[in-house]
Amino acid sequence: MLIGFGLTRLFCSTEKSLSRFVSKMSTFVSHANPVTGKMDWIIQDENYDYHQEIARSAYADMLHDTERNQKYYDALKIAIKMLHDRGEKAHVLDIGTGTGLLSMMAASAGADSVTACEAFKPMAKCAKKIMQKNKLGDKISLIPKRSTEMTVGPDGDMPHRANILVTEVFDTELIGEGAIGTFNHAHQELLVEDCLVIPRAANMFAQPVSSELVRRWNQIDTSNMDGSVPGAVSQCGGAPSLHDLQLDQLPPQQFTPLSAPLMVFRFDFNCKGGLKSDRRSEVTVSADDDGTVDAIFMWWDCEMDPKGEITLSCAPRWAHPDGSDLPWRDHWMQAIYYPSNPLTVSRSEPFSLVSCHDEYSLWFDVTKQGDTSHVLERPLCTCGFHTTLSRTRIGMMGDPCRVSIFQAALKKHVKETSVCLCISDGSLLPVMVASRARKVFVIETNPMYKRITDALIQHNNLRDRVTVINKQPNEISRDDLDNLQVDVIVGEPYFSSSMLPWHNVHMWYAIYDLDAHLADNAVVLPGKMVMKAVAMDFNHMWKIRAPVGVCEGFDLTEFDRLIESSSDISDSNIEPQPLWEYPGRALSSAVDVIKLQYKDLKEKSVQASVELQMKTDGSLNGVAVWTEYEFGEEGTVTTGPRTSLRVGENVDWDYYTRQGVHLLKTPRTVSAGHTIVLHVQFDPKTGEFDFSFKT
Ligand code: SAH
Ligand code: ZN
Repeated sequence: MLIGFGLTRLFCSTEKSLSRFVSKMSTFVSHANPVTGKMDWIIQDENYDYHQEIARSAYADMLHDTERNQKYYDALKIAIKMLHDRGEKAHVLDIGTGTGLLSMMAASAGADSVTACEAFKPMAKCAKKIMQKNKLGDKISLIPKRSTEMTVGPDGDMPHRANILVTEVFDTELIGEGAIGTFNHAHQELLVEDCLVIPRAANMFAQPVSSELVRRWNQIDTSNMDGSVPGAVSQCGGAPSLHDLQLDQLPPQQFTPLSAPLMVFRFDFNCKGGLKSDRRSEVTVSADDDGTVDAIFMWWDCEMDPKGEITLSCAPRWAHPDGSDLPWRDHWMQAIYYPSNPLTVSRSEPFSLVSCHDEYSLWFDVTKQGDTSHVLERPLCTCGFHTTLSRTRIGMMGDPCRVSIFQAALKKHVKETSVCLCISDGSLLPVMVASRARKVFVIETNPMYKRITDALIQHNNLRDRVTVINKQPNEISRDDLDNLQVDVIVGEPYFSSSMLPWHNVHMWYAIYDLDAHLADNAVVLPGKMVMKAVAMDFNHMWKIRAPVGVCEGFDLTEFDRLIESSSDISDSNIEPQPLWEYPGRALSSAVDVIKLQYKDLKEKSVQASVELQMKTDGSLNGVAVWTEYEFGEEGTVTTGPRTSLRVGENVDWDYYTRQGVHLLKTPRTVSAGHTIVLHVQFDPKTGEFDFSFKT
């Protein structure tokens, strides 16, 4: 977890909401406003002490990672014993102590002195309390500073240099939290020459693959629709954010490896000359199969102890030393990188994988010719699509299931004489509609999305038939619509401000405001939003919100209290997650919770209480909630399961949307017949949905 790190990392965020990164700068907290379809920024007062972010970060998950904890503990015991066997004292420095866990391990393993430092002040405060509670407060010296600000000497933060460094400042990309700078500074200023370092090294692996499903996260797939996207999009370097995910959940039939995993970098954390902050490696292999190199999968492992006998691997199951019996974690996943030009290879044909890193990030490319000089610079998005649209959204736009429903519904309802109005941020719907209709209007209020829509319309030569209106729905006049009445109003619906599926209810606010412009028998697509829910037994996901309690013999309840004190007041009890990455069984059937049409917005409030009855035994640890949009007989667009949900079986969640999930802090063993109640209250004035769960 990295705090107050400066701008570099802030701008290269990850795809996940669950990051170990807590931004010290966010005194602004964003909030979706379904009425306007925009993000509101709420300013936090100065007493806001980031508990919310700690609660939402992957801190807790990291502490549930037993393999990680035990391997650090074992490595520490070995290192301390090695020094004692040599007749030396063991002086341990723990950089980024977090809750104090590794320092307490070092103290318990017999270290002669332990210095812990922590850059994030609220965490350092918490660590102090935890150390006292565990009666180790006077054995550990805690410095609430960034390691690079620490001094050594009689008046310094440490009286003398340490001879053991233990640190866990790694993210999914290994170096994204600034590990290179942290290690280099520590060797220069804080450690003795022949120190021991835990972990001693890391190895980074990459594997080129061919996969339509994966490609769709980076390139809008237009193969199933009328219309295309500008060529600049497919030649583009892509999004700057890290695509981190639970790679193991990609079904094996969805990708073809084009080579075995390749080791591309080794990071020697005990290297006397210092770690380099810009490196490049090139490996030439012969392709294992025919295919296009759509993506490069990446993961790393760590050699924990000074002899390198204990390895901690983040590999996916097909490359993991423990095979399919691998431990689960969410704070380190795997990552996907996209080459800036698709390269097609044939079986046995040689091609080169070029890997690069700077101080904080990695990038990869593939080539056949051996000319790899262009790879030296970190690629940037030059087309504007990748910086505006999230990967989830890029995937959603080209999702064949959605596209086929849109195409069928438009075919049925849009005539050559139709006047159509499209409402959705940066959508291909206007392009799909334009080939059938007389006239198409598009509402685009966000300038970034308007640029995308303009580019799509221009590229598809539709400027004479499509007009983009840059106004809020309630500001639109007859003039804006060329004095025409709208026959078909259509939305995906998708709005960039929608953090949770039901925030797309903005579609119906827009229709409500546009009522006066609709023809008498106007068709509204989709007509209704249906909210659905299912009771879940997630294999692991519940751990990310479960209290830590006692960890490797150390009482961390103070940390649980820190999280709970804030999340009880300020946390929404339902959070967005890409559930396809988190396997789990359905314990109940899918139940309709609430159905909304635009007429319902006239009501004072709309509420529903539904019972979710368990149809099978299991561990109840979550409730998943999603929405569906009805396009009549032509189909239903879902933000939930892609295939019909079967009780007792794993749910097949959509790859290109996020669902809402309520995670129970303490899982409950339940039997078939057990019933829980979900109550939802919708306030048409604010567009807010309030959820309460009686489990
Ligand atoms: N060591 C703990 C916590 C690991 S999370 C454990 O293993 O459970 C990483 C922590 O390191 C975060 O709390 C982050 O704020 C801190 N951190 C990262 N780089 C740091 C640095 N250079 N100096 C001090 N703290 C740092
Ligand atoms: Zn781009």
